[in-house]
This record gives sequence, structure tokens and C-alpha cells, in this order.
Amino acid sequence: MLADYHMHLIHDGHEGKCPYTLERIEEYLRAAEANGIDEIGITDHCDRFREFRPVMEHLITGPGTYEAVTKWLSKRFSEPLDEYVEALVQAKQRGWPVKAGLEVDYMPGMEDAIREILAVYPWDYVLGSVHFIGKWGIDISPDSGWPERDVDQVYEEYFDLLVRAAGSGLYDVLAHPDLVKKFGHRPRRSPTPLYEKLVDAVAQAGIAIELSTAGIRRGEKELYPAPEVMEMCAAEGIPITLASDAHYPEHIGADFNRALDECERVGYTHFTRFEERTRVPEPLS
Ligand SMILES: [Zn+2]
Ligand SMILES: [Zn+2]
Repeated sequence: MLADYHMHLIHDGHEGKCPYTLERIEEYLRAAEANGIDEIGITDHCDRFREFRPVMEHLITGPGTYEAVTKWLSKRFSEPLDEYVEALVQAKQRGWPVKAGLEVDYMPGMEDAIREILAVYPWDYVLGSVHFIGKWGIDISPDSGWPERDVDQVYEEYFDLLVRAAGSGLYDVLAHPDLVKKFGHRPRRSPTPLYEKLVDAVAQAGIAIELSTAGIRRGEKELYPAPEVMEMCAAEGIPITLASDAHYPEHIGADFNRALDECERVGYTHFTRFEERTRVPEPLS
């Protein structure tokens, strides 16, 4: 069996009411089935939900904000988290192969606030992501923030945040663990020590990382994470989930052949599913 554990019910450009409905979930399940995926984990992004406004609002207020980030986030924080979770719970109650997840930004200093929001809902798993360094969104545009920055410094700061996210106790899985390479910026210094720190932190925290095919659709050569990180994870026995980061139904399970080849290359025999925040290993077949 195969499970895709990272997807969004609506694309990023969508600005109106979000389709947190059984009909939309059914559409995703049909697409999953057509693409050979047996179970889907739905992980909409926390910035869709009004509960997360206090956690992330500092990104678009006060001095030092980025136009691209403000444009991105100013129309967010509108949906009630209850409605989203309710749709997922109903889908599960119908016996549909759906898991209830959420993709939650790691915001240093906001750990308690995030924990409080998450505590009242029946998640199967929570994805931890780093998309921001301070007020800067690293993955929005190569023209925003990147030109004036030192890439080595960016890598240091990015991996430092990811290490802290791993140790925060908030997350079951780290999403797209080297997203910092998205626009092709590569550090001058070898990133190996940063990778080692990350893999140590993930091992110590006892959480999983995802193997994501998201970049392949954008023409990137590599999966997330880089081959070297995958080798380290396999050596440490770190559990992995499989992920497309689909924002449209047709992208569910996209390029999973690449992901499965990578698992074989580094020696993974299992991936992991989740039930109520408990890992369930599943053979890769
Ligand atoms: Zn993400
Ligand atoms: Zn995502």
C-alpha cells in the first residue's frame, strides 16, 4: 500500500472560502485512487486558519516586513479550524482512508501558543515546516530577500530553525526538510555538518521526516531532502513518510516512482503511516 501524507485542499492562490467539505475530500480520494495511492493525509497550511493569526501576525506587522510575505499572508487567517477538522473527522467516520493532519510553521518563541491551538483537535499527525527566517519567507520568490543575503548564512539559519522545530515536541514529521534549496541557491561551504545536526536532532526527538516529490513538478532535480540527507536518515533508522505536497487533486502521488527508487537506493524497506499521532510502519511495496 502507498500513502501520500502531505497535501492541501486548495491551491495557494485561492482567496475566498476554502472547500473544507466532504465533497472536496471525496474528489481527492478519487484522484488518489486513480494515481495508485491507498491513503491520503490532508495537511492544510496553518496560515489558512484564524486561530493562527496571533502566532504569525508579526510576519506582516511592524518594521522589517517583506512585501511578498505581506501579499501572501494578508488575506489569510480567515477559516475556522473547527470546520476543517470536522470535515476530516466526518470523512474518517465514513471509513474513508483519510488522515487528519495540519502543516504548521515553526515560529520560534510561539511554541506554547501553537501547542495550545493544536491540543484540542484529534490529529493523526502534525507536519512541522520552516518557510520563514525571521519575517522573510524563503520560498516565495527568488527576488524577495535572496539577492541581498549570504547563502551560507541563510543555510545556517534555516537548518538551525529546523533543528529547533525537531526538538520542540510540536511535530510528528518535518516537511520538505531542505526547502531552502528551492530556487537553486547552494552554499559555498559544505552543508554536510548542517545535515548531520538535523539528522541528530530528528533522531533524538524520535520523529519522522518526509520524502517529498514537490520540487520535481517545479523542475528541480532533487527530491526533498537531498540524497546525502536521505543516506544519513536511513543509517540512523529515521522513519519517513511519502509526500507529494499536492495543491490540486491530480498531483496526489505525483512522481512517487522517484521517491520509491530513492528509498530503495538508500535501503529503506518501510515508510510510516500515522494513527492518532502513533507511527504505523508499512512495508514499501
Ligand atoms: Zn510547506
Ligand atoms: Zn505543504
